Amino acid sequence: MARLAQTAGLTDVQQEILSTVRDFVDKEIIPVATELEHRDEYPQQIVDGLKELGLFGLMIPEEYGGLGESLLTYALCVEEIARGWMSVSGIINTHFIVAYMLKQHGTQEQKDHFLPRMAAGDIRGAFSMSEPGLGSDVSAITSKAVKDGDEYVLNGQKMWLTNGGTSSLVAVLVRSDEGHPEGTAPHKSMTTFLVEKEPGFGEVRPGLTIPGKIDKMGYKGVDTTELIMDGLRVPAARVLGGVTGRGFYQMMDGVEVGRVNVAARGCGVAQRAFELGVQYAQQRHTFGKPIAQHQAIQFKLAEMATKVEAAHAMMVNAARKKDSGERNDLEAGMAKYLASEYCKEVVEDAFRIHGGYGFSKEYEIERLYREAPMLLIGEGTAEIQKMIIGRRLLEEYRFQG
Ligand SMILES: Cc1cc2nc3c(=O)[nH]c(=O)nc-3n(C[C@H](O)[C@H](O)[C@H](O)COP(=O)(O)OP(=O)(O)OC[C@H]3O[C@@H](n4cnc5c(N)ncnc54)[C@H](O)[C@@H]3O)c2cc1C
Repeated sequence: MARLAQTAGLTDVQQEILSTVRDFVDKEIIPVATELEHRDEYPQQIVDGLKELGLFGLMIPEEYGGLGESLLTYALCVEEIARGWMSVSGIINTHFIVAYMLKQHGTQEQKDHFLPRMAAGDIRGAFSMSEPGLGSDVSAITSKAVKDGDEYVLNGQKMWLTNGGTSSLVAVLVRSDEGHPEGTAPHKSMTTFLVEKEPGFGEVRPGLTIPGKIDKMGYKGVDTTELIMDGLRVPAARVLGGVTGRGFYQMMDGVEVGRVNVAARGCGVAQRAFELGVQYAQQRHTFGKPIAQHQAIQFKLAEMATKVEAAHAMMVNAARKKDSGERNDLEAGMAKYLASEYCKEVVEDAFRIHGGYGFSKEYEIERLYREAPMLLIGEGTAEIQKMIIGRRLLEEYRFQG
């Protein structure tokens, strides 16, 4: 085996894309990632490079100027990028989810208006479900849209927008009671609005404020923000799909592909942690030999590599299932759950292998140690994945007695 996490059955085009991305990661991302992360600096040069490679349009259909590639190709690229620096994969992830939602659910006018510029990376997307009082329980959303002529007026506060400052298009999920009688199930009275704005902070459009960056433990470089809507007026033509009441389903569809993406990030970070651990273990000597020659360390490396392989296989399986047109919520939930848990464990083992040096900011593993926990939370916590998996299992294995 040449290296871990190989994928059988890729086309020549997929192999070429992946080798270009891997090369870019090795040359342009890994050498600068830790320094930029410590300064919490936005990686503008890297983003420009990704734009040039066409990665912002990887899954956008060719008719809109994208590369029209599959979810599998996208996920494998994300795995490579996260191996270099997880924050960079975060920059393309919300963009990818919004482009996917537009492709699947947008009106023709919305696709024509947004997708070509999204493919070029000139419009960049963020998506916003969470609020200060909720994350897992999306049905409890309190932000609201009220119809006023040909427009909707939006009020409320959103939380945790990845790319909230740097994006120019935000897909925002709010409650829209208009047209839905009293007592309608919460998920049937939600609507996704496509909100265009200027990148930056402060009042970026009348009625819309992005207060500033949230100071985070890891996942630095990429901006995470709040979003405040105070009488924000959005034309009715910017209701995703043109019809209210479908937002919950549209967002859940987006999150489902997002979960494959988070699994891919977990795979990439775990691979990098393994690489760092296996290298360090052969350089550091104790009791007269490299620590890699102590069986306890070899066992650690064996466990780490097995987890990297298992997570990769599940992530690839979930992506292929979606690409084949089948429902993949079970596979995506399992892949996201397993890959994020394994990632945390592999990173911790690599940290332990580094001994005291793992605690020093000079060593890359220190950064990975602060980054891995975000994967346990984003796109649904482990508990939420297990709820999805459990429900689906009871559907599949219904008791027939
Ligand atoms: C860095 C970062 C970036 C993010 N980016 C985005 C983004 O771009 N857009 C966006 O919309 N959101 C984003 N989020 C929000 C993220 O999706 C939520 O944080 C996540 O869904 C969890 O929600 P919460 O934080 O409100 O936790 P809560 O929902 O309050 O959960 C707290 C704890 O309770 C558990 N729990 C909740 N309900 C149950 C239950 N029924 N049974 C058992 N346990 C339960 C959870 O698993 C968790 O352990 C981001 C978050 C972070 C940290």
